Amino acid sequence: MGDLSGYRGTALRFLKGASASVGDVLEVRTSWGTVTGTLVPRYAYGDEEHIVLKLKSGYNVGIRVAGLKDAKVVSKGESPAFSPPPPPKSPKGLPRVLMLGTGGTIASRIDYRTGAVRPAVSAAELHALVPELSSIAVVQPEIMFEVFSENIAPAHWAKLARRTARAVKEGFSGVVITHGTDTLGYTAAALGFALAGVPIPVILVGSQRSSDRPSSDAPLNIIGAVTAAATSRFSGVYVAMHLGESDDKVALHRGTRVRKNHTSRRDAFVSVGVPVAAVYGRGGLETESEGLPPRGGAFTPRPRFDERVALLKFYPSMPPSAVRGAKRSGAKAIVVEGTGLGHVSKEVAKELGAFVKSGGLAFMTSQCLEGRVDMRVYDTGRDLLRAGVVPLEDMLPETALVKAMWVLGTGAKGPRAIEMMTANVAGEMTARTLPS
Ligand code: ASP
Repeated sequence: MGDLSGYRGTALRFLKGASASVGDVLEVRTSWGTVTGTLVPRYAYGDEEHIVLKLKSGYNVGIRVAGLKDAKVVSKGESPAFSPPPPPKSPKGLPRVLMLGTGGTIASRIDYRTGAVRPAVSAAELHALVPELSSIAVVQPEIMFEVFSENIAPAHWAKLARRTARAVKEGFSGVVITHGTDTLGYTAAALGFALAGVPIPVILVGSQRSSDRPSSDAPLNIIGAVTAAATSRFSGVYVAMHLGESDDKVALHRGTRVRKNHTSRRDAFVSVGVPVAAVYGRGGLETESEGLPPRGGAFTPRPRFDERVALLKFYPSMPPSAVRGAKRSGAKAIVVEGTGLGHVSKEVAKELGAFVKSGGLAFMTSQCLEGRVDMRVYDTGRDLLRAGVVPLEDMLPETALVKAMWVLGTGAKGPRAIEMMTANVAGEMTARTLPS
């Protein structure tokens, strides 16, 4: 049986019955007429009731299987195949870089017959698609996972951290991790904590357009990432993505201060509250900020995460039961994304107080994203402080969530966990500047 990507249940049974595969041209008889088109892979979140055909006009139609009278394969499609040229040989003496593949758009290609994006490019193929790499470093590709990043979870972070720690021992000059962009910021923060003090650069890289499209941002992002991994003077965890819309510069953002702030632009990623750590322009790293940790030094990886943390975004009319719900689902810590300087309604504040009383940990961040929380300005903030909610300065809410998972993963509890949450581990908080 050929490829029936994404089809499940009724639709899958129907297609198997008709001996159809993705890419075949099908003729189906519905109650309203006969439709001919190429069978397109189904998105994983599609229902089980429909098949999707791409018509000659280029439009896709979803057809409910239950209403079909008959289907036959008019012509078999060729199964998608891609054989990249072998990567060119690197000159001797170049730095060694480990490239870990996890999936995402950067490792996807458009199937031009069906128009769907498929996770089909391995780390090795990516390397072959960007031949320039062989003059920058000796890249060793390795596939860790092949998933879109919305499916990445703390167990994946832990595996990536362990593999990277091993790469340090194996003498690699740097590690590049190709990753979907949706949760790239979370993984970068997680590795920032798990690998705090790592003596080499660890560069996460994604792309907004799949690697085989002429408009793809993947090649430049990968070149920037590998250059940083191979040649930077700094160590630590960073995200490499386009600096602007044009295809000439790559920004390196600190792993604990980066956010995807646009759904589709190439320059979707921004450093929040800190300058970009470094910029790659054609030819090499052009600028590196002051104060980045240099390469080298001893480090102990701490690659364990405890998922029992909830991130609650406060909104007007939020029911206090949201806090109880988080507790019922097992949360040992709650990170609140409050309004402004770090506020929630009286009712939610009361419930957070009860959560802390019962042994839970509650932390405050701000949905403003820019600036820091200050809970001593208004009564609401003071009440929250009195209730035991701990302010997290200018830590990003997503970073605070990941950090709480990491802190609990180290086995820390109560006051020790609070102490770890409020101490700077991987540049997640910036120093408070005194008012002039
Ligand atoms: N949903 C995809 C992912 O995060 C999008 C991307 O890769 O850019 O894996």
